[in-house]
Amino acid sequence: MPLVPLLPLFHSFNREFFEGVLTMESKPIVAVRWSDGRLRKTAGFYRRGPRISGRFGAEIVLSRPLLEHLPQTAIESTLCHEMIHAWIDLVLKVQEGHGPHFYERMAAINIAQNRFQVSVRHKFPVPQALPKWWAVCSRCGARSPYMRRLKGAACRKCCEIHHGGNWHASCLLVYESVVKEE
Ligand SMILES: [Zn+2]
Ligand SMILES: [Zn+2]
Repeated sequence: MPLVPLLPLFHSFNREFFEGVLTMESKPIVAVRWSDGRLRKTAGFYRRGPRISGRFGAEIVLSRPLLEHLPQTAIESTLCHEMIHAWIDLVLKVQEGHGPHFYERMAAINIAQNRFQVSVRHKFPVPQALPKWWAVCSRCGARSPYMRRLKGAACRKCCEIHHGGNWHASCLLVYESVVKEE
């Protein structure tokens, strides 16, 4: 399957969510590209620096190996996430990671449409193959994909919140088989 071209998406998000401020004379102020096959640690990133090509020495890079097999919405949500970073850096000129500007813009984008949701952490810890199981926390209901079932594993977040970081049976993960959607 060929990679989705990112530039048209960038332009439409720029109009829809950023009041067009991420372009100048209709050209992007940040380069947007797919990574090579090696970027596997993160779904995408934004960076600026003297050695980065592009008009303002800034670029958004999306991970080809992590995103190419995911639905388009994962690509859209990752691109939007990185566009928020570019907007904070190049337009607001503020130094901020996931700070108040980030949260505000993310919330506005998530309210403005329901095709995809932007999150602070890219919410797809994408395994190399499709997951076989959903691990569901019996306490908070959070689900995450697992390749294999781990006996006695508990929800880390709930153990931290409710049991001072100690393993507790009330936070055990229950496994559900992943049903492949067409
Ligand atoms: Zn980020
Ligand atoms: Zn939990």
